[in-house]
Amino acid sequence: MRKVELAEHAGFCFGVKRAVDESVKTQKQYNKKIYTLGPLIHNNDMVKFLEKNNIFAINLEDVEKLEAGEVIVIRSHGVRESTIKYLEDKGMIVVNATCPFVTNIQIKANKHSKDGYKIIIIGDENHPEVQGVNGWCDDSALITMNGEFDFKIPNKVCVVCQTTQKKEIWTKTINKISENAKEILAFNTICSATEVRQKSADDISKKVDVMIVVGGKESSNTIKLYEICKKNCERSYHIENVNELDMNWLYKDDLVVGVTAGASTPDWIIKEVIKKIQIN
Ligand code: SF4
Repeated sequence: MRKVELAEHAGFCFGVKRAVDESVKTQKQYNKKIYTLGPLIHNNDMVKFLEKNNIFAINLEDVEKLEAGEVIVIRSHGVRESTIKYLEDKGMIVVNATCPFVTNIQIKANKHSKDGYKIIIIGDENHPEVQGVNGWCDDSALITMNGEFDFKIPNKVCVVCQTTQKKEIWTKTINKISENAKEILAFNTICSATEVRQKSADDISKKVDVMIVVGGKESSNTIKLYEICKKNCERSYHIENVNELDMNWLYKDDLVVGVTAGASTPDWIIKEVIKKIQIN
């Protein structure tokens, strides 16, 4: 049997796993078709798995067509305060599976805007997480994606950032803001999940003969993992699922094979890959 080393942190982050588990649990509890507001995760196999389990993604515009009493799960990105109110007013049963790290940002934006601070979000204004956070301070936040901005910095500001933001951008933007603001509350709300996953991939790919990176071909975080691994291990391969695993890559039986996976790769896909590496 070939030796397989699985990266310590691979696949779903805590927040996504929690939202998926919560959806499955909720569907069992109500024992009928339930909905998630937007897809829980961008992975085709996962979407099929959820649909087989009677869990379907729905857009906010289509909620209109649902009857009162339907169950809607809020995904890990979170939503604006008014969206929850809208769903409740429509008579929906709302299960809030927002990642606690995102909830923390929403609470801060809400509290400090009420206390008279102008909220600044360092993040992508088109990302649902950022739009959600902005919705907790009456859509009044100033948003900057990469530290470049032309808005005037108010005297009292409270700065938060998108959970997936890069540390350099956070530091650069805070420095720039502090040149002008009189009073700053700064909350570094970057989540370490991505960093920790990359560090695990880096560590493991230095020790193995072949490295298999599992995740969507379009998934930017998986591509990043592959690049990190390739730097350390020439025989690194990026596959979407077990069907793409070419056994010719594992040219001898006594190889040590490392495995890691992107943030949208479910556990069972990782397990199938490991099983195939081991038994062939
Ligand atoms: S904040 Fe971190 S743990 Fe939560 S969903 Fe986002 S990446 Fe995952």
